[in-house]
Amino acid sequence: MGEECVFCEIIAGKIPSDIVYQDDKAVVIRDINPQAPIHLLVMPREHIPSLAQIGSDRKDLIGHLIYVANEMASREGLVQRGYRVSVNYGREGGQLVPHIHFHLLGGRQLSGALG
Ligand code: AMP
Ligand code: ZN
Repeated sequence: MGEECVFCEIIAGKIPSDIVYQDDKAVVIRDINPQAPIHLLVMPREHIPSLAQIGSDRKDLIGHLIYVANEMASREGLVQRGYRVSVNYGREGGQLVPHIHFHLLGGRQLSGALG
């Protein structure tokens, strides 16, 4: 578990959150400050700080997280409408929480994919 990591604390049940899905490798929560009608965060249980720690040994885990994001999009009724899955890395990439997570955004017309 990451030291003072808010997502590790949510995963451990130490601070409350709206957890909408979990399995042995992944946890999905609703974003506390949603940027779209549907805004979920798909994260690994394992504390991985960022995209920079993704090597060949973690390809399967990342594939699983994308699979879970697609499943959640389906559950939320977004497949026909469309949705966005994105990950922020580092300071200029806009990453605020140092525990890797995929944003799943949908439910409105999204624009400005490249910020
Ligand atoms: P990022 O900027 O990619 O690191 O995204 C971090 C996201 O985590 C932001 O969209 C925040 O609104 C969200 N967030 C931060 N703290 C919490 C929390 N306690 N519960 C749910 N979402 C959170
Ligand atoms: Zn963590």
